[in-house]
Amino acid sequence: MTTLSKKTQNTFRVPSARPFGPALNSSRRIVCPECGNDLLFYEIAEDVTLTTSYLQNADGSFTPQSDDSRILGTVKLFCAECSHDLTRFHNQFVEMLF
Ligand SMILES: [Zn+2]
Repeated sequence: MTTLSKKTQNTFRVPSARPFGPALNSSRRIVCPECGNDLLFYEIAEDVTLTTSYLQNADGSFTPQSDDSRILGTVKLFCAECSHDLTRFHNQFVEMLF
């Protein structure tokens, strides 16, 4: 039955524009369900290809020019206090990354 989802959509309208201001953002804070930490998190990217361009100098030494990283694997989010896997919040984390 689709009646329930239709009713939910009408009741809770999601604004199409990105919300601005700390009042709206504070209700979207990620909180670790294991330890309650809401301050420190870390992200782990698997299978990263890091390409660095170098310029060779006259004396044979090298100077890095630019870095390009390409993530081929999955990216996971963890609580920095208890290392609980918070990957299910990763989309929200990326949306709030400035
Ligand atoms: Zn935690």
